[in-house]
Amino acid sequence: MTRFAFDIHATDGKARTGTIRMMRGDIRTPAFMPVGTAATVKAMKMEDVHASGADIILGNTYHLMLRPGAERVARLGGLHKFGGWDRPILTDSGGYQVMSLSDLRKITEEGVTFASHLDGSRHLLSPERSMEIQRLLGSDIVMCFDECPRADQPRDVIAKSMEMSMRWARRSREAFNAGAEHAERAALFGIQQGALDEGLRKASADALTDIGFDGYAIGGLAVGEGQEAMFATLDFAPQQLPADRPRYLMGVGKPDDLVGAVERGVDMFDCVLPTRSGRNGQGFTWNGPVNIRNARHAEDTGPLDERCPCPTCTKYSRAYLHHLHKSGEMLGAMLLTEHNLWFYQQLMAGMRAAIAEGRFAAFAADFRRDYFAR
Ligand SMILES: [Zn+2]
Repeated sequence: MTRFAFDIHATDGKARTGTIRMMRGDIRTPAFMPVGTAATVKAMKMEDVHASGADIILGNTYHLMLRPGAERVARLGGLHKFGGWDRPILTDSGGYQVMSLSDLRKITEEGVTFASHLDGSRHLLSPERSMEIQRLLGSDIVMCFDECPRADQPRDVIAKSMEMSMRWARRSREAFNAGAEHAERAALFGIQQGALDEGLRKASADALTDIGFDGYAIGGLAVGEGQEAMFATLDFAPQQLPADRPRYLMGVGKPDDLVGAVERGVDMFDCVLPTRSGRNGQGFTWNGPVNIRNARHAEDTGPLDERCPCPTCTKYSRAYLHHLHKSGEMLGAMLLTEHNLWFYQQLMAGMRAAIAEGRFAAFAADFRRDYFAR
């Protein structure tokens, strides 16, 4: 059995399409990973997540370590068995969420001590503890523990943070390797930092490549810098990372973000947007986002998206979805989430086919014409 392999089938400009092969299954790239924060992709049964076209989902270390706890998940047979998903799972390191959600953080070279946002209990997250938690969860793709500073800070602050993240990456690699059986079937990804600075990004990429990882993430983007600044960074950041390894842009994004990032050489994505938006009444379509709560849908008997083959669009009208969301019915969140996940997977499938056939530029142009047509 192959622990981890990445085969690139075709390239078109900087865009690539391929397959990541792991013991629990193949991951077609460019890939979108639905976010399963607390061992659930909110409002979705796992069989329906799979039916949408997802090859892999993401789990959040920070949430799972606090509730139900990594040791408990391990006693219950691991995250796959616990949540009913037998394909690959990528877990984040907890580094990003400990910065954004917890209270009373103290960051030292050792790691981050913090108070839980749930009950105020004190915890330590370090490279070693993060690797241990991700091993207890049974993660297939483990992420290095890093610090993600705000992008608007002075260069020397960003540089010092990046350099500590690179020392943490080496400690993560050593702790992962010590994980015996788990290290023989899981993969470890490093995370490039350096905010919007080309030189710092290069130094980070070189430090990570020197340690050696199965794949490389681009961290520290989609943190409020805006699409223009993100794309400007993606004009150089992916090419600084090894060409024969998957490149994962963390926490991105809107459909047009995904197209622009694939265009710049990114292979993997995760984002809460399709699921969170589905609960809030926003549906993504080939003609742009739709607010289903808007009164103009109240008597619209058509589907949310004419081109979408998902269970929601096949069976239910905009008028019914509008009614469910206006009434606060939980089925409204379920049906719109399911559509959004299908839409994201159809977008990825469309990009994969276009790259394979050497027509990605035309695909991207058609997508933007329809998506932004108003
Ligand atoms: Zn649909």
